[in-house]
Amino acid sequence: MKSILAVALASFATLVCAQEQIPVSPKPSSYLARANTLLEQQPVIDTHNDWPIFLKFYYKGKLNNIDLTHMTNESHTDIERLRKGHVGGQFWSIFYPCEDKEANQVKEGLELIDLVKRMVQRYPDTFQLAGSVAEYEDAIKNGRIASMQGIEGGQIIDSSMSALRQFYDAGVRYMTLTHNCHTPWAESQSPATEYPFPKGTGLTDFGRKIVKEMNRIGMFVDISHVAHSTMHAVLDTTSAPVLFSHTSANAICPIERNVPDSVLRRLNETDGVVMVNFYSRFVECDESKRATLSDVADHIEHIASIAGRDKVGLGSDYNGIDLTPVGLEDVSKYPYLIAELLKRGWSDEDVKGVAGANLLRIWRGVELVRDKLSDVLPDESELNADSMQ
Ligand SMILES: [Zn+2]
Repeated sequence: MKSILAVALASFATLVCAQEQIPVSPKPSSYLARANTLLEQQPVIDTHNDWPIFLKFYYKGKLNNIDLTHMTNESHTDIERLRKGHVGGQFWSIFYPCEDKEANQVKEGLELIDLVKRMVQRYPDTFQLAGSVAEYEDAIKNGRIASMQGIEGGQIIDSSMSALRQFYDAGVRYMTLTHNCHTPWAESQSPATEYPFPKGTGLTDFGRKIVKEMNRIGMFVDISHVAHSTMHAVLDTTSAPVLFSHTSANAICPIERNVPDSVLRRLNETDGVVMVNFYSRFVECDESKRATLSDVADHIEHIASIAGRDKVGLGSDYNGIDLTPVGLEDVSKYPYLIAELLKRGWSDEDVKGVAGANLLRIWRGVELVRDKLSDVLPDESELNADSMQ
């Protein structure tokens, strides 16, 4: 999109300079200029960024002596670039590898939450914690980046309803039911572990109870990373909008990690939204090619063609991926993607939806379901042999 801007500016300059010597200013109607203007009205809300685990692995989670404003290493994220990219809301990923069986997953989850909170505390003019739509709006009003959290991998709650609720109280607003391991109650798309139940189970009885408890407390049920059978099982169970926090389209790149059209056709059942993942290997299945910004726009358009333009958003997976698309190398690049959609004929309202308004709508939906269920008692079920079927 840089080239489009350059071409637009060059042709504008040729036109006006040929007639009279007047100063050349950026053409206001250029797609990038329009994208930047629209993003001032509706900033980007990205639902998946792995900066916390990056900071943990690179700096052992010690933030006091590092500068998060401008990072010179391979981080896709820093404060300068978040601002340049018009990021107004970020769900920071609370992730720990499920394959590490020796780890205390609950402790690892808590330590990453603590890291996010220390980051916010250290840069109070930049970040503000947000646990609701109202708190998101307050952060935007204050000119700060609303900072939310999502657990990536249900193993982090150790099959405990109490842990689930306490993570919510700590600020977590979505949980991806699995990462690359099955939990005892939900099936992953990429089994790094043996099946604890027959393949195709999706959710066990206990898994359905977890989903309902998430509905009750107001936590997004995130069905990225899960098996397609789990996606359908969740849609059969949930009473709140589902979230794909970072998932691309299976019809374009046919891997289980991507969402199939059969699920996209069901998104309106709960007003769910798919936030598109930028990882080159999920966007472009041909490993000899590196994906481009245009390929990511193709995924957005495919999801929109099946489910509607109000059912798609952005879940980049920055700092969690080792290969970004050309043109979307880091968090400063979102405006170029919005400009590409404008170029393809998307309306101002459509692109504001993709940037963040669609996510805000379903977040309100999750809060509404939580309010409706306020009389329901907490689920005191425990995982046991009877529930693993
Ligand atoms: Zn992921």
